Amino acid sequence: MKTKSIQQILPPPPPHMVGDGFRVHNFFPSGYDMDIRRMSPFFLLDYNSKVDFAGTDAPRGVGVHPHRGFETVTIAYHGKVAHHDSTGNSGVIGEGDVQWMTAASGVLHKEYHEKEYARKGGLFQMVQLWVNLPAKDKMSKPKYQGITNDQMGKYYLPDNGGVVDVIAGELNGIKGPAFTFTPIQMYNVRVKKGANFTLNFPETFNTGILIIEGKVKVNNTDEAPADHFVLFKNDGETIIIEALEDSIVLVLSGEPINEPIAPYGPFLMNTKEELIQAYEDFNSGKFGNLED
Ligand code: MN
Repeated sequence: MKTKSIQQILPPPPPHMVGDGFRVHNFFPSGYDMDIRRMSPFFLLDYNSKVDFAGTDAPRGVGVHPHRGFETVTIAYHGKVAHHDSTGNSGVIGEGDVQWMTAASGVLHKEYHEKEYARKGGLFQMVQLWVNLPAKDKMSKPKYQGITNDQMGKYYLPDNGGVVDVIAGELNGIKGPAFTFTPIQMYNVRVKKGANFTLNFPETFNTGILIIEGKVKVNNTDEAPADHFVLFKNDGETIIIEALEDSIVLVLSGEPINEPIAPYGPFLMNTKEELIQAYEDFNSGKFGNLED
């Protein structure tokens, strides 16, 4: 099989605040001059690199806001986040856990630091992805999957090289628990210094890795340090990763959704008319109720 060559290794763009609880580097769609469908079905990648938040009795976060047409996936590495939405779903995720919320036809939600974590303060590190939905599923029923670390598929690298948390998709027969609408592979690879591993994804799948911790060598050629995103070309199947330090690598690969997209604010639709409809529905209360 042929190697997927590296298109670019992207350093973290300057961060901005989302609400007062998330200090994020947006790798795409706006951080770099990338086509908005370059990483489809992944539309947005916000990365909260490590921040040490001071303790507070008023948890930081983002207040009530709507979403329609996609899924928000939050992956916690340090700190804890609480979620509430207008369908009545809620949950708290901590280190190693994932929250997979399907906004689909529309929800209101709020995302806050969990109370106890907020009170003590401390290290905070998260990823939030927006995963697009195909047109036929955009108006489906909202859904919430709270996925704890122990529910994830565990693939053990040979020679005690580490462990792969399979969140979605499958790795060497080990399946991830997340339900996805289109084919998606999502793993956290926790790899020990000196170990290496190979992953295979179809050539057409858009693929990238985010170095969460440590430093790796990719395809035996390029070094990628922590907080960098490696974007691969669609010209092969295989990626080879060697850990130069104990590392954590978030791996994203998915089949592109080849449909027009119309993104605006918290909505991600196929057409401008659907965006207008989304604002009308939101303004007329069709997204339900959620208290601040
Ligand atoms: Mn949100």
